[in-house]
Amino acid sequence: MNYDVIISGGGLLGLITAIGLSQGSVSVAVIEKNSLPRITNDNRAFAISQGSKKILESLGIWQLIENEAEPILDICILDGNSPVTVHYDHKMVSEEPMGYVINNATIWSAINSNFLNKLNIYSPHSYKTIACDAGYTEVILDNDQELISSLLICAEGKNSQLPGLFSIPIVKFNYGQNSIVCNVKHELHHQNLAIERFFPGGPFAILPMKGGYTSSIVWTEKSEISKMLMSLSEEEFAVELKKRFGSYLGEVKLENERKSYPLSFAFARKLYRSRVLLIGDAAHSIHPVAGQGLNLGIRDVESVINHIVDAKAAGMDIGSSYLLKKISRDRYFDNLTMALTTDRVNRIFSNKILCAKMLRNLGLIAVENSNFLKRRFIQHAMGH
Ligand SMILES: Cc1cc2nc3c(=O)[nH]c(=O)nc-3n(C[C@H](O)[C@H](O)[C@H](O)COP(=O)(O)OP(=O)(O)OC[C@H]3O[C@@H](n4cnc5c(N)ncnc54)[C@H](O)[C@@H]3O)c2cc1C
Repeated sequence: MNYDVIISGGGLLGLITAIGLSQGSVSVAVIEKNSLPRITNDNRAFAISQGSKKILESLGIWQLIENEAEPILDICILDGNSPVTVHYDHKMVSEEPMGYVINNATIWSAINSNFLNKLNIYSPHSYKTIACDAGYTEVILDNDQELISSLLICAEGKNSQLPGLFSIPIVKFNYGQNSIVCNVKHELHHQNLAIERFFPGGPFAILPMKGGYTSSIVWTEKSEISKMLMSLSEEEFAVELKKRFGSYLGEVKLENERKSYPLSFAFARKLYRSRVLLIGDAAHSIHPVAGQGLNLGIRDVESVINHIVDAKAAGMDIGSSYLLKKISRDRYFDNLTMALTTDRVNRIFSNKILCAKMLRNLGLIAVENSNFLKRRFIQHAMGH
């Protein structure tokens, strides 16, 4: 079968790319090694920036999920139990919320029911061989089916083998941290406030969820501590959780099962080679400290859709190095800045060193007292 584009990896970013390209009259095949439609029960929620919301809106996805999205109006940053706080209020920048919190399962349900039947999906399948010639890419699937395209987009997530196969240099390391994710119910309304409290083991984030009385927790700890936390009984875990959560929302109860995610960093020094282009976590897997990995990937997706749809309409070769270089130029700086910033914030805050703590507190006081710095941070978090 011949397509304009083949996407390997039918996670959220691969599928959103396929949706956007198809809407722009680009023919696409998606190869996904696990079964689609995907039924998720991973308890995850995403913080979606205002910028990502607008991109999803332009693709007709946001309209299907907005009723389940909870706006984030304020963000508070705290250094452990120190009284120093930075408070970001969305009104400093605009009347719009800074972002939204939405369940992973809600996004998947919208994609499963409204888009999958319009896409060319090959699942559960993966490639056996990939050959890139001067003019095309040939993919042989594990069932020996042959697919041909002008471009192969790799959206295989952070453990993708494709960069290695195409000798794309990639910097990788483990953080030695895990994030435990779960939801809690609380007695008082969260007032659409997101909180990030930094402890020596890593950040503890509280994200306000739909309805006002549920929040999503992303609790990052050194791997050995998170292993121990995962082995605790539900009651014991709840006791530890309440110590970090505090009492500002009254009584707190665990709502669902905890899941633990090992954290690692990956950053491709080049986004393309031959006719292969990396997007999303396959190109940059960043620390979840600011909840920006998916948002960064959605900005990749927007750039890819715009460039490829325009190139196809103009009759250009959509796998040409000229076009891939343009996409790469468009995305590299944003990707690098976000990868480095999240890495540095995690390093500076996740330690017990006394002078680092003093410097952090001075930094937080400086930000709290500077409207200029606050506005810049809010604009960045909103994806502007
Ligand atoms: C604890 C935690 C909290 C987070 N919170 C946020 C947040 O609040 N906001 C935010 O913006 N981001 C957040 N992120 C980041 C976000 O989860 C990722 O950036 C995003 O899910 C990456 O999507 P992706 O489609 O690139 O990769 P994935 O979701 O990993 O999808 C890759 C897909 O490719 C498939 N695949 C892999 N190899 C092959 C192959 N050889 N052949 C075929 N298919 C293949 C896989 O099966 C999978 O379906 C968080 C991350 C973590 C760990």
